[in-house]
Amino acid sequence: MPPRFIAPNNSGLGCGLILLGLALLLGAVGLGWVVNGILLFFLFLSLAPVLLVFLLRWWVGRNLLAAPCPVCGYELSGLRGQETVCPSCGDALAGTERGFERVAPPGAIEVKAVEINQP
Ligand SMILES: [Zn+2]
Repeated sequence: MPPRFIAPNNSGLGCGLILLGLALLLGAVGLGWVVNGILLFFLFLSLAPVLLVFLLRWWVGRNLLAAPCPVCGYELSGLRGQETVCPSCGDALAGTERGFERVAPPGAIEVKAVEINQP
């Protein structure tokens, strides 16, 4: 009668021992690269989500923009290089490196009002 812990469908421990035995067997017959490949694959599977989260956080940190609306001064946030609409005044804005800028419709001419005092 074999010892209890080697019985295949007894517990997770037995299953793990069988896998370990299989890995040692493959390594002994010169197929260690198969075992290494499988281990690397599982290592990659467990590390990939962590890497993705860090990449996403880095990208959002680089591209997130929080600045006041140039028209009404309302604090809003958006992404650099993306167009957005101010929720306060409804003006179309574009996120740039310096902050939000108005998006003038084609053909519109931006003018600055200057007060002239006449004697
Ligand atoms: Zn606004």
